[in-house]
This record gives sequence, structure tokens and C-alpha cells, in this order.
Amino acid sequence: MLEKCLGAQRWRKIQRALRHGKVTILCLVLTIVVLRGTIGAGKFGTPGQDFVEIREHFYSRKQAQPHRVLEEVQTMSSSSSDSSTNNYNAFDINKILVDEEGDDEKRDPNKLYSLGPKISDWDKQRSRWLKQNPDYPNFIRPNKPRVLLVTGSSPKPCENPVGDHYLLKSIKNKIDYCRLHGIEVFYNMALLDAEMAGFWAKLPLIRKLLLSHPEVEFLWWMDSDAMFTDMAFEVPWERYEDSNLVMHGWNEMVYNQKNWIGLNTGSFLLRNCQWSLDILDAWAPMGPKGKIRDEAGKILTRELKDRPVFEADDQSAMVYLLATQKDKWGDKVYLESAYYLHGYWGILVDRYEEMTENYHPGLGDHRWPLVTHFVGCKPCGKFGDYPVERCLKQMDRAFNFGDNQDTSNLRVHAQVIG
Ligand code: UDP
Ligand code: MN
Repeated sequence: MLEKCLGAQRWRKIQRALRHGKVTILCLVLTIVVLRGTIGAGKFGTPGQDFVEIREHFYSRKQAQPHRVLEEVQTMSSSSSDSSTNNYNAFDINKILVDEEGDDEKRDPNKLYSLGPKISDWDKQRSRWLKQNPDYPNFIRPNKPRVLLVTGSSPKPCENPVGDHYLLKSIKNKIDYCRLHGIEVFYNMALLDAEMAGFWAKLPLIRKLLLSHPEVEFLWWMDSDAMFTDMAFEVPWERYEDSNLVMHGWNEMVYNQKNWIGLNTGSFLLRNCQWSLDILDAWAPMGPKGKIRDEAGKILTRELKDRPVFEADDQSAMVYLLATQKDKWGDKVYLESAYYLHGYWGILVDRYEEMTENYHPGLGDHRWPLVTHFVGCKPCGKFGDYPVERCLKQMDRAFNFGDNQDTSNLRVHAQVIG
């Protein structure tokens, strides 16, 4: 009807225009949908907000490239983390100190632990070596044995940042004493046997050093938390002529009371001989970490006087060994109490002023202790048995007490060298 009124040709034009219009409207709708999705106020924006957003999109060049902005933020933050690579505080040291893959074979837990292949002719081997190497005598002069002071700490940094600083102070202190007394120093940071971690680490190390240094007559083990506080005191070596192991302690407390603090293994002397290799073998079996150490700890707590409940430690194991096998080892063990080969810090540090007023270096005993040992402070660990502030303050006092003598007492040097 309309066709008739408007004429066929005109009607077709109108129809075409309508079709084009539909396509145009569709395109318009699509454009709005896309614009809203990318630069509009988003799903929750009102048409008004959309308008503002779209206008700003076209007029503001900065906001026109949101992806670029994000990328810039990313590169900026990564370049700021580049700049944090010269900030030591922000760096995680474990990125560098990755644990080495242990390729050790698992040991049969039913077999008795051993420090190494059995050696039974060390005295013969060593005396042959000493004869063949007259340039490296085991005695520097009569009554002055060649001594190697051995100390060490774990392969990893301390569990608190101050701990490493005190390890440094402690080794400086030992180097100073040893320089004055003609003693060599060996600092170990390797864990030679994963099973013997912690306070047991000294055993495999000592054995290795005895065997690789036949020229050394006495090995002096000293804990990292022990410091020399008498720079002038010389160990009375002649007193130990017939002894192979010298520790600070008391016969009565070890052999009769079986007291776990009857002796101390934080500072001791061990002669380089077959007897010493044997006692190391007898001392070691309670050491392996885990079930063995835990079970042995129960035995030690049960058998020794006043021992708290904890895993087997080398000191308790030594008390137990001596108390139960006195006949086997006793006559070559010297428990020294005439001077402080080891001295408990708790009873010494507060008396330094009194000592300075009344006495002088060179006495080594309660008047001027040779060694001040910070038993229980665990300066390299997370938790100790005493307040941290007290431990650190007293360690600093012990360090300074020793250090002040080192610079003022040069006569010691002449005495030793001359
Ligand atoms: N130690 C070591 N390697 C280690 C852990 C400890 O050589 O992986 C040494 C360190 O010299 C330390 C000693 O073992 O001083 C004994 O431990 P600690 O002094 O903490 O025991 P405490 O004297 O308090 O009983
Ligand atoms: Mn110690």
C-alpha cells in the first residue's frame, strides 16, 4: 500500500536507508560497549562518570596510555629494587649460602658410630715422621711443646646479627694471646661430619688435625665463646709431662659425684698420640644427631648429678666416660683447678675491677683468670640461658679486659721470644 502511495523506486530507497541505519546503530552500540570496558568508569560507573572518563581519555595524554603507566611503574619498582642491591640490610644472605647437596651415604644406625678408620700405630708413625722432619720438632724448647690452638664456628652466619661480631672479637682475642705465646691458630668453619653438628663438631675436627699435624704436640681446643683474659699467663707445660688430656675440673666432682659440671670441655689440651685417638673414639658414640643423641641424653641425665634434660652433649659424655671407665683413662687425664684453663664468666666478670686494683696479669687463677668462658650465653644462637644484654655486656667487658693487657704488656712478648 505504502509502495503504491510512494512509488516502487522511492520505497526501495527508504528500505535501504533503514537497513544502513540498523548497521550504524549496531556499530554505535558496540563502540560504546568497548569504550566502557576499556576506558570508562567500568562496570560500576554511571553514564555521567563514563562521560568524564572518556573525555579525560581523549584530552589527557598522560592517562591516555594506562598500560604504559603500569609498565613504567613496574620498571620503576624493579629499578628501585636494583638500587636496594646495595642495601646490605635488605639482602637475604641465604640467596648466596645455599646448602650443598649432601652426597654422603646414609649410615647404618645400628652400627656403632666411628670417627674414621681405626688407627692403632699412630705413635710409631708419628715418631718416624718427627725423625724424618727435624725442621718441625714437636718441642720448641724443653718444656715448651708445639701447640696448635683450634677453635671454630658453624658454616652459616650466626642466628642473630650481633653474634658474628662477637665471633670476630673472640678470634681476635685468641690470635693476640697465641701470638704472644708462640702458638699457632686453626679456625674451622667446615662441618666435617653432618652427624656431629653443634658441640660435637670438635671431635672429627680434632682427630683430623692430630693426624695431619704430627709436629703438633698439644692441641688446644677452645670454644668460640671463650676468651683469654690473662694475656701473660703461660701454661705450666711441665706439669702435664705424664698426661695426655688436661681439662679444668675436679677429681672429686667427676669420679665420685659424677657431676655433669665436674669438668669443662670448652677449653682443653690434648696430646698428639695414640691414646688421644683412642679416647676420641670412646667419646664419640653418643654424638650422632637425632635418635642416638636424644636417647644418650636420657642416659646422661639419669646417670649424672644435676644434669638437666637435653640431648647428649660432649661435656656430659666425657664426665660419664671418665666416671665409668676411670681405670682405663684416669691416669692420663689431668683435671686442673689451680688456674682457669676454663673459667665460668658468671663468677669472674663482675670482679675484673677488683682484680685490676689488687693483682696483675700472669696469675691465671681467681686473681686474674686465664680464660673467661661464656657458657650458656649462646651468642651465635637465637636463645641462650641468660638475658642477652647481660651476656653481651659481659662479653664486651671480658674482651676489653684482655685487649687492654695486650697493648700494654709488651714484656710478655720478649719473655716468650727471648
Ligand atoms: N661449634 C663449632 N661448629 C658448630 C657449632 C659449634 O665449631 O657448628 C663450636 C663453637 O666453638 C662453640 C662450641 O662448639 O663455642 C661449643 O658450643 P657452645 O659454646 O655454644 O656450648 P656451651 O659452651 O655454651 O656449652
Ligand atoms: Mn662454650
